Amino acid sequence: MIASLLEWKAKHWFEHQQRHRAKYPEKYKARTAVGNAIRDGRLARGVCKVCSSLDVHAHHDDYSKPLEVTWLCNKHHNTHHRPWIEEYQQVAAS
Ligand SMILES: [Zn+2]
Ligand SMILES: [Zn+2]
Repeated sequence: MIASLLEWKAKHWFEHQQRHRAKYPEKYKARTAVGNAIRDGRLARGVCKVCSSLDVHAHHDDYSKPLEVTWLCNKHHNTHHRPWIEEYQQVAAS
């Protein structure tokens, strides 16, 4: 019961992402802008704001401000976008 609900959430999330991607090319532009800014020394790579890991991704709250980023490691970036993922993994593992 709970597993199927979580499966639905995962599927729904995936479809949502696909639509989101088609609808918001700014996301890809923002990512490129961050890469270029780091390369040019205009933006310094930070640490994960949750666990201070150095292995970070740039997370955007607003893609229209490509250089306003929040640094999050892979794990915390996932949990930021998919708050239910840990619950899902626990159910999937049990
Ligand atoms: Zn982290
Ligand atoms: Zn993000």
